[in-house]
Amino acid sequence: MTKSVVLADPRGFCAGVDRAILTVQTILKAAQSAGKLHREDGLPPVYVRRQIVHNKHVVEDLANQGAVFVQELGEVPDAAAQAGIPVVFSAHGVSPVVKAEAERRGMHVVDATCPLVGKVHREVLRFVKEGYEIVYIGHKGHDEAVGVVGESPEHVHLIEHADDVTSLEFAPDTKLVLLSQTTLSVDETADTIAALKARFPWIEEPPSSDICYATSNRQAAVKLVAEQSDCVVIVGSANSSNSVRLMEVAQEGLGQRGKAYRVDDAGELAPAWFDGVESVGISSGASVPDELVSGVIEALRDLGFTGVKSVETIKENMHFVLPPQVRALAK
Ligand code: SF4
Repeated sequence: MTKSVVLADPRGFCAGVDRAILTVQTILKAAQSAGKLHREDGLPPVYVRRQIVHNKHVVEDLANQGAVFVQELGEVPDAAAQAGIPVVFSAHGVSPVVKAEAERRGMHVVDATCPLVGKVHREVLRFVKEGYEIVYIGHKGHDEAVGVVGESPEHVHLIEHADDVTSLEFAPDTKLVLLSQTTLSVDETADTIAALKARFPWIEEPPSSDICYATSNRQAAVKLVAEQSDCVVIVGSANSSNSVRLMEVAQEGLGQRGKAYRVDDAGELAPAWFDGVESVGISSGASVPDELVSGVIEALRDLGFTGVKSVETIKENMHFVLPPQVRALAK
């Protein structure tokens, strides 16, 4: 029997990641065309706050092209604002405190926050204005969660799992609504929502789920892939929430039959994982370039997995326009 790989489709880049990377690339290209990639004043053509998307290969690639990544705006010199150097905010969004600092220092901000993350920020503002307390399901310390909670720290109550629901206390006359991070596990979040509804039956939900289309679609596809595989490899970085969730969903689908692994690239594969395995499922997080998946497929071919089959669950056609400041540059 031919040993094979089972490829999830959709996988990899989502519209928000595509937009964020293209934003930085467009700024770099424009600087190159203007002969300003290597400036006389020693400043870079663009600063990016935090990883533009959570993938180390993407970040390294853009850094090699001239982008400078910083953790905080304090690392960007004042001279950058005076010289008109753009500062890009990552796809995960930022809290109002960061925006205020950028404004105070006269920075030229290009906001590459994914519009679907922006939607959750706007929901927070709207519900707080209407007098709600917000239970936000997310991961403590994740850039997206930090940004969303930062919209109204006193009214947004972050919980991670169903077990955390017991730590919440609200009087029965409190207006309550639940929101969530865009990259959570659909199934795990359903459990947390059920626990919330059991404890606070009057809690409301937003008009549409905050878990984004790309997260839901990739999890649905990897579930099917896991059913047809003996083990699953997810390509994605350790700090990528949606990649880690994909690995968890795959593991759940495999059950006792096999194991799900996460790798940044083919270099992290261990041949021993595939002893006795006939079919390997593969998917990748929303921030992962497809050439990294191709590298994994090639490495598996060298290990005897010569067949390739694709499991397609849905065709995606989502596209987001570039931030206004870079649209003109793109032309
Ligand atoms: S995973 Fe979803 S929310 Fe995050 S960048 Fe992609 S489309 Fe936007």
